[in-house]
Amino acid sequence: MKYIITSECVYCYECVDICPVSAIVERDEQLYINESCVSCGKCAEVCPVEAIRVNNKK
Ligand code: SF4
Ligand code: SF4
Repeated sequence: MKYIITSECVYCYECVDICPVSAIVERDEQLYINESCVSCGKCAEVCPVEAIRVNNKK
């Protein structure tokens, strides 16, 4: 997966609502981006605290 949600997330759920493929899911009281992500970047655009970043690590 290309996009990751960092600990700066304040749980506004804007990203969950905007994701076209419902790739953002809650697990163990944290939000994760799963394999369904098509890297459209919409979640990163709407996040008010810029908690969603491109993961450059291989
Ligand atoms: S990059 Fe697009 S497809 Fe991937 S989690 Fe964000 S909104 Fe969903
Ligand atoms: S938009 Fe940003 S702050 Fe809001 S739930 Fe998603 S990652 Fe967290």
